[in-house]
Amino acid sequence: MKAYQITEWGAPLEEREIPVPEPQGSEILINVTASGVCHSDVHIGDGYFDLGGGNRLDMAERGLSLPFTMGHEVVGEVAAMGPDASGVAVGDRRIVYPWIGCGQCAVCRRGDQLLCLTPRTIGVRVHGGFAEYCLVPDAKYLLALDGVPETHAATCACSGVTAISALKKVGKLADDESLMLIGADGVGLAALGMAKSVTGGRLIVADVDSAKRDAAMAAGADAVLDNGDATAVAAAQDLTGGGPIAAIDFVGAPATSGFALQAVAKGGHLVSVGLYGDALPISLALMPLKMLRISGSYVGTLAEMNELMGLVRGSKLTPVPMTERPLAEAPQALQDLKGGRVLGRQVLTNS
Ligand SMILES: [Zn+2]
Ligand SMILES: [Zn+2]
Repeated sequence: MKAYQITEWGAPLEEREIPVPEPQGSEILINVTASGVCHSDVHIGDGYFDLGGGNRLDMAERGLSLPFTMGHEVVGEVAAMGPDASGVAVGDRRIVYPWIGCGQCAVCRRGDQLLCLTPRTIGVRVHGGFAEYCLVPDAKYLLALDGVPETHAATCACSGVTAISALKKVGKLADDESLMLIGADGVGLAALGMAKSVTGGRLIVADVDSAKRDAAMAAGADAVLDNGDATAVAAAQDLTGGGPIAAIDFVGAPATSGFALQAVAKGGHLVSVGLYGDALPISLALMPLKMLRISGSYVGTLAEMNELMGLVRGSKLTPVPMTERPLAEAPQALQDLKGGRVLGRQVLTNS
């Protein structure tokens, strides 16, 4: 089969002919039909994430060896099943839940596979969907499409599940309580689209870009504000009668999280999602005095992915703008994303 692999950190992906993997045990072989290209693929391909302050999270040090096939937003058809596999049949179309742990340790057994210390994340730790076929360890990581377009479904495995997981951490809000979403890019807009169902409450969107604020209003925000403005904290408190009860920072920069911590109400909650990076000084006295809470949220659990697919199937959630390209253009698609030449989401298709 053809696979589009990292063969050298930072270099374009290379098209390679490799054997089709054979499913063992409970493994399922998926014939990939759609595979989303994510911004984190740029970092994995470069071999590191920038942690700020000169620190790097190095992929090779984490045990990733080359050649490696990325691709963690995978939709496809069951092509073959290991001898112990059950729960799907050859020919079934499924979305892959990629954020898989070892399955054996205490956190995995309680359903928190994201906290596993020996992850098997598809496309990040084990070979993924920038190839004609990819292996999934068990049918329980495959979710039904039920009419959801494959390109949209692919993005649910990453930006969609990230959005719903952050919203679930906020919990249910009363009608007069406010949630502030910071950053109206892909994940922020996806969260806005499902917030009415997941959290309820009033939805305030903050972005420094007026075009993105307009997009947020069009997508159902109750109010928007410019968090780059010097009066942004007062504006957020005016709009919400004293500050939002929760804020989700989809940017994750010192300026955005600092703004959120100043703007939230007493007892407020900041959910930190964005991976922009760098560092933020926090007033340790204000943490107890305002009874603030900060949570980190990274992608989402299998249960949240199931909940998301229920929402997506049952509603008319607007998919993010999408560009489809053939799988063979994987190297160019990644280069285009790296060069900032991509509008919306690229999904590689293979039929
Ligand atoms: Zn992703
Ligand atoms: Zn584990």
